[in-house]
Amino acid sequence: MVSVMTKNLAVLPFLLLSACPDESICAQFVEPDPLFALSPAVWQWQNLQDRTIPVCWDQPSTVSSDDQALVRRIVEASWNVALDHESVSSMFRVRFVGWGPCVSGDAPGVHIVGWALNPSVSAIGARLDGKQAGVRLNMALEACEDVATHEFCVRSQTVHEFGHVLGFVHEQNRPDTPSYCDEEPAGTDGDLMVGPWDLDSVMNYCNPLWSGHGHLSDGDIEGARFVYYPWLYERVFCPTDGGAP
Ligand SMILES: [Zn+2]
Repeated sequence: MVSVMTKNLAVLPFLLLSACPDESICAQFVEPDPLFALSPAVWQWQNLQDRTIPVCWDQPSTVSSDDQALVRRIVEASWNVALDHESVSSMFRVRFVGWGPCVSGDAPGVHIVGWALNPSVSAIGARLDGKQAGVRLNMALEACEDVATHEFCVRSQTVHEFGHVLGFVHEQNRPDTPSYCDEEPAGTDGDLMVGPWDLDSVMNYCNPLWSGHGHLSDGDIEGARFVYYPWLYERVFCPTDGGAP
């Protein structure tokens, strides 16, 4: 049966709909791997056929146009690919779009800015919508300034910070973090754990590779799909309910 644990009583609505009447059906459920999400910060859309998250660069930007293009390619090759699920019609897919200059300080969507401190976000998930300097990327880190490691450096920080953009928080903040992971909890806590704790997550400070070197773990991919395409799982979980969109 799916392992869904919540620290509070707040759960995503689809979880409330997922009560399974038949344990033999439940046994068919493919347990999604992890991620630690902040459910109120998961992006919601009025129109299910326009599930886009606009992205723009705060102006004037200190990030070169080459690096802006690199950041876009990295997100499109990681989270966008994770959210391109063959079972989800293209019209329902969650996608990052835009990537041009922000037309105003409060333009809708996620604002990226060049940053001289550690890469970070100013909020989690949809709470970034329309906020200046929401995603802070540092192209002047030592590894970024070395041509040989530049792309690796940009990828590692970008994939991690865009995990926050999608509503995910640090894996080591989970209350089921094993004792061998001695990284302190950092930043906002989540309220929704799905599946087992994942050492390989790009959101885990205990990952022996810095943000998994920007390569999503199987759990990261499955977790993102679970949060944004719950009906895929619900259909397996309770196939007699007629499915969903
Ligand atoms: Zn982080």
